[in-house]
Amino acid sequence: MRNIFPLLVVVFLASCEDVKKGQPQQSTEQTTVTETITEKEPTTPEQTEYYSPKPPVVSINPETGIPSDAIILFDGSNFEQWVSTNDSTEVKWDLNSDGSMTVKDQTGNIQTKRNFGDIQLHVEWRSNPDSKGSNQSKSNSGIFLQGKYELQVLDNNDNDTYVNGQVGSIYKQTPPLVHAALPTGQWNRYDVVYHAPEFDSNGDKAKSGNITVFLNGVLIQDNTEIKGTTEYIGWPKNEAHGDGPLMLQDHGDKSGVSYRNIWVREL
Ligand code: MG
Repeated sequence: MRNIFPLLVVVFLASCEDVKKGQPQQSTEQTTVTETITEKEPTTPEQTEYYSPKPPVVSINPETGIPSDAIILFDGSNFEQWVSTNDSTEVKWDLNSDGSMTVKDQTGNIQTKRNFGDIQLHVEWRSNPDSKGSNQSKSNSGIFLQGKYELQVLDNNDNDTYVNGQVGSIYKQTPPLVHAALPTGQWNRYDVVYHAPEFDSNGDKAKSGNITVFLNGVLIQDNTEIKGTTEYIGWPKNEAHGDGPLMLQDHGDKSGVSYRNIWVREL
C-alpha cells in the first residue's frame, strides 16, 4: 500500500490538470465531439479577449439616479416635452408643486414631441387614493409605447378585473407575471426595455415588438411579444409604422393618476 500511494497522487494531479485545461473526462462517444471542438478552441486566455470598442461611460446623477445619457421627458418643472394628443396644443393636465403631474379628466391623452424606437424607459406613477371607481374605472391610465402599445396603469388593490387588463398587463394581451403594485396612493416605478416591431418593404410585420417590464424592481413582463396594437375592442392590428411618441392616457373617468420622473434612453 505504501508503494502505491505516490502513484495515486500522480494520477489525481493529472486528472486535476485535465479539468483545468477544460478537458473533462468524457465517455468514448463524447470524446470524439469534444476533441473536434477543442481543436478549434483557443489555447490562451488572450485569444478570447478584446479591448475595443470601449463601451461609452455613463455616470449616474447622485441626487436623481438618472443616467447621464438619458433624455429627461418630465422632471416636474414644465410640459415642454409634451403636447395634447388630440390637437398638438399645449398640455392641459395639472402640473403639481411636488414635481408631479396629474391627469386632468376629459382633456385627452398627452404625448411626447419626440418620436422613439427602441428605448429603456423609467416612469413613476401613483393611483388616486380618493378614487371611488372599480374594475377598469379605478385609476385607469396607461403608457403607450410608440403611441400604440399600452402598458396598463390601474389600481388593482382590492379591485378585480380581467387579468390581461390589470396593472402591468400589455393591455388585452398579456397579464403581468405577478401583481407587484404598492398600496394605493404610493409611488410605483416602471422600468421598461422596449424593442419596436419591424416591418418589411411591403408593410408586413417582419418581427414583433417585445417588452420587458419591472414594477417596483420586480419582473412582471419577461421579453413579452407584443402581438399588435392594444385594442379595447377587436384583435391587435399590425399596420407598418416608424418611430412614435410616448403617450400617457386620460381614460376619461376621473382617474386622477399622477406621474413623475420620466426619462428614456434610446437603444
Ligand atoms: Mg389604461
